[in-house]
Amino acid sequence: ASPSSTRIDLDGNPIKPLTICMIGAGGFIGSHLCEKLMSETSHKVLALDVYNDKIKHLLEPESLPWNGRIHFHRLNIKNDSRLEGLIKMADLVINLAAICTPADYNTRPLDTIYSNFIDALPVVKYCSETNKRLIHFSTCEVYGKTIGSYLPKDSPLRQDPAYYMLKEDVSPCIFGSIEKQRWSYACAKQLIERLVYAEGAENGLEFTIVRPFNWIGPRMDFIPGIDGPSEGVPRVLACFSNNLLRGEPLKLVDGGESQRTFVYIKDAIEAVLLMIENPARANGHIFNVGNPNNEVTVRQLAEMMIQVYSKVSGTQPPETPTIDVSSKEFYGEGYDDSDKRIPDMTIINKQLEWNPKTSLWDLLESTLTYQHRTYAEAIKKVIAQPIAS
Ligand code: NAD
Ligand code: UDP
Repeated sequence: ASPSSTRIDLDGNPIKPLTICMIGAGGFIGSHLCEKLMSETSHKVLALDVYNDKIKHLLEPESLPWNGRIHFHRLNIKNDSRLEGLIKMADLVINLAAICTPADYNTRPLDTIYSNFIDALPVVKYCSETNKRLIHFSTCEVYGKTIGSYLPKDSPLRQDPAYYMLKEDVSPCIFGSIEKQRWSYACAKQLIERLVYAEGAENGLEFTIVRPFNWIGPRMDFIPGIDGPSEGVPRVLACFSNNLLRGEPLKLVDGGESQRTFVYIKDAIEAVLLMIENPARANGHIFNVGNPNNEVTVRQLAEMMIQVYSKVSGTQPPETPTIDVSSKEFYGEGYDDSDKRIPDMTIINKQLEWNPKTSLWDLLESTLTYQHRTYAEAIKKVIAQPIAS
């Protein structure tokens, strides 16, 4: 649809152009959501973040077709009095801001808890006080570990979906002990979910909570030493991309046995747009957003990425394709892991008629093509540089 044609919601009603206050708009998900809103809708975006590198292409030059519909406000929501005014200007608030890389959860637990709970509080409060609709980004990690993970290894019940399928309105939240600081993130996200939900129940806040299940694609995180710190540890897609770009073995944490389902960012963004444009169907709901058909172990992900990268870059896979590392060595003390994450899709299917489309192979092919095109030359230069003495 072109931005000028009137958009229609799932119930056949025309959609009025909205002003959206998007907090964390400069991140991975925010950049894709801004892109979608600019190219396919006539909604306006007040884009708030401390960085704008990932949305620069949408902000400049002034002659872009959506000129005037997206405005960037560089601010840290921790300490900026402009936040309240920007929320007041909007019809809808989307909060994406968070510290959300596992390497931080056990090494910077205070920053993680403050970012995911304390810093989100004023946003919820202003929305509730000024009757603004809120779409809050939580995480699939609020489910923690599966019930099945506590059964004996050889129990046949482990194969029964009742023991692993993650359902918004049924599954419990199961975290490790306090010493396992990995769970600081999940716990902070759980408490902010409960707060948003309670604001809905007691004060009538119109809200939607999103639980992303490993959304991946271009612009996710950073490549260490290129557009992020050399010692930084991003999420698995960027870690493995970095290894592939440098021709190094991919590091499998604790054997790479954990299971994940990966969804293509462009599929997931379709779901978010449906939430934005169908408030009557989305309000009061918590939605899993993932692709239950794309389940792999981390080891299988590594093997597939090696194959795909070899194809798209025309290079040979490294002689030693993978190496095992302990989680203590890789992440430090206090790391723990989610064993398995398959989203139940019943609620989002019913409310928003959404289904993911892209297979894991296809999404890796387009993502690794992007990684190669964006970073291969820069990596070559860095590798060629003599180490400073
Ligand atoms: P991201 O790190 O790329 O984006 C977060 C953005 O928020 C960053 O640009 C960051 O600069 C900004 N931000 C953080 N603190 C801020 C502050 N105090 N003031 C202003 N801006 C601030 O991460 P993402 O993958 O785009 O994730 C967005 C949201 O989705 C997060 O809430 C995250 O917990 C959630 N989530 C994402 C995934 C996924 O698969 N990508 C999975 C689970 C949950
Ligand atoms: N992982 C890995 N090697 C890496 C990076 C991550 O084996 O270089 C594993 C990590 O231990 C976890 C999975 O990959 O089991 C997914 O990690 P990610 O950081 O993407 O986030 P998560 O899905 O745990 O939130």
